[in-house]
Amino acid sequence: MIDHDEARRALQERQATLREELSAGSSATKTVKLDQSRVGRLSRMDALQAQAMANASARHRDHELRRIAAALRRLDDGEYGDCDECGEAIARARLLVDPAASLCVACAEIQESS
Ligand SMILES: [Zn+2]
Repeated sequence: MIDHDEARRALQERQATLREELSAGSSATKTVKLDQSRVGRLSRMDALQAQAMANASARHRDHELRRIAAALRRLDDGEYGDCDECGEAIARARLLVDPAASLCVACAEIQESS
């Protein structure tokens, strides 16, 4: 069983980093838009590609932030560390790698393959 204070700290740190990256990312997306008016076709494609990548990572960060928020809620509810699917304890090593994990290894594998 992972230490809850430790998990909370790790989650909050990750949350702060993601929020910073999200706000930095949104200003990068704006810059791309401004540049498009004065660049050629090739650069415009680069710009669009960069923008698509920025949007994709923003979506990824958004998703991560939701997982972290859910994990923090589980900490508050005393359900942290239990698998959402089967209720078994999630392996400590798994939580150390991903403190926001909500499924045990077995259930995560079933979900990924379906
Ligand atoms: Zn499970």
